[in-house]
Amino acid sequence: MKVAPTIEELRTNLKSHHADNQLIGFVPTMGALHEGHLALVDKAKESSDTTVVSIFINPLQFNNAQDFSTYPQTLESDLELLEKRGVDVVFLPSKEELYPMQPSLSINFGPLERTLEGEFRPGHFSGVGIIVSKLLNIVKPHVAYFGQKDLQQVAVIQTLVRDLSIDVKIQVVPTVRESDGLAMSSRNLRLTTQERKAARLLYQVLNFCKIELLAGRDWLTTRQEALQMIRHESLASMEYLELVSTYSLQKQEKFEPEQALSLVIACFIGEVRLIDNLPVNL
Ligand code: AMP
Repeated sequence: MKVAPTIEELRTNLKSHHADNQLIGFVPTMGALHEGHLALVDKAKESSDTTVVSIFINPLQFNNAQDFSTYPQTLESDLELLEKRGVDVVFLPSKEELYPMQPSLSINFGPLERTLEGEFRPGHFSGVGIIVSKLLNIVKPHVAYFGQKDLQQVAVIQTLVRDLSIDVKIQVVPTVRESDGLAMSSRNLRLTTQERKAARLLYQVLNFCKIELLAGRDWLTTRQEALQMIRHESLASMEYLELVSTYSLQKQEKFEPEQALSLVIACFIGEVRLIDNLPVNL
């Protein structure tokens, strides 16, 4: 496994792969890797000649300084995991090289900016759009892999690729969960033992809502009952719980079985902000 700490080294490493027309699969991450990330790596390995993973904690997408400064970093074990999974190249760019100055560009994703993560994390998607554009320009993969865990991010990246005619296929990989249903996330490392137990609540709430909706209950009543469940957990503080269109992420007031809909939640458990989602009907 090659480790490329600069853009030049990355390009040198990939030159022959591009020249040989090898299929390049790319997984962008912020590190503190877990089985969720590795599911993306496995998918990339399955269908690519060369698999590239990047690890970069992108300051531009953090709207909260404390979230940025406490973001987990486990580089040594990340590299071991990637080596074991058979990754070909790991790109570890520095902040100085990617952002020699604060970018003057910002990206507005329209309706996606005004809902859910866009509403609660102003500027977040612009930061995501800029880093993903940069990484796709540098790596030039044929396929890039993203997790369904960040459903709105998937919609943002699909918008980016479509609106800028970027020549890459976006492949979405289902959410990997712990045995109690908690979606794997690097931020889970920041939970205390007690908070970790309480964090099961996110999946429990999503699952409860899904079962109720599929049993024909209306969304507004179901949502009220779910909010009650959250209020009972003293460590939890909810930001949003919504039923949305899976592709546009726009909020729905009614469950329509023939539409692709998902439940989405953002909730603080102690100091740690967690998000999750669950498709109701595929
Ligand atoms: P991050 O390091 O959090 O930026 O995540 C890098 C990629 O891994 C993103 O495309 C995430 O959506 C994806 N990812 C994170 N957690 C999971 C998970 N539990 N299951 C599947 N994909 C995930």
